[in-house]
Amino acid sequence: MSDAPLYDAHCHWHDQRLNPGQELMVAGLAQIPLAKAVVNGTHPGDWEAVAELAEQDSRVLPAFGLHPWHVNEAPKDWLDQLQDYLHRFPYAAVGEAGLDRWIQGHDLPRQQAALQAQMELAAAENRPISLHCLQAWGPLFEQLQAGPLPARGFHLHGYGGAPEMVASFAAIGGYFSFSAYVMHERKARHRESFAVIPIERLLLETDSPDMLPSVDWLDWELTGNAVFADEGGGRAMHHPANITASYRAASKLTGMPESAIRLQVERNFHRFFLEA
Ligand SMILES: [Zn+2]
Repeated sequence: MSDAPLYDAHCHWHDQRLNPGQELMVAGLAQIPLAKAVVNGTHPGDWEAVAELAEQDSRVLPAFGLHPWHVNEAPKDWLDQLQDYLHRFPYAAVGEAGLDRWIQGHDLPRQQAALQAQMELAAAENRPISLHCLQAWGPLFEQLQAGPLPARGFHLHGYGGAPEMVASFAAIGGYFSFSAYVMHERKARHRESFAVIPIERLLLETDSPDMLPSVDWLDWELTGNAVFADEGGGRAMHHPANITASYRAASKLTGMPESAIRLQVERNFHRFFLEA
């Protein structure tokens, strides 16, 4: 029996920062057995790029959402536009949405209102919803607990909350995704959280082009050109084919063989993102 394919629960292939590396990206992705990648838009200005990718590449599962970093600048009719995209793609997820008290100039009540509107949309149609959270885990839990939530549950991407909160989020329907980024030495708390999540709620992600893992976790055989710089700041970026590193890290952290992780993540991904 051959191994189950790979699933990236959260990334941004449409991000313009990846454009200079477009060819490397396509070549790298062609080398791995990737079944699906959830490509998240973060504001109305990038939703069409996500839509185009979804129409071109059957691996792309589109997600449309208003990220907390963009609530202050969103046009008045963003919710109508979001509804239009969700109607155009009946299988699309909602996201990336969430709460963030780390970013400068954040307006938490405004973020909460935008999140609430997106939760209501997702709940009404039982769509998957992908959530971002930085330094707002308490408020996020309260809001999710109050609902409404989709019957299928919700997804916390790049989970960085306390290990002690994992059980509470799981009890109200939470799925959790991690990348090999947690293998950075300073991310011990993230690894503690990884250790306590129920295995049937585990998803893996890259968050490409962000959250670059330390270089010793990258698969140089498959994605030898995996680290590439954007034209502007020269910041190293996370090649989406590095999803293989997330699987290797998950295997190391759970002690499960990678083939078993693949099978489990496939089941979880199907249950959360693909089944109605
Ligand atoms: Zn993201």
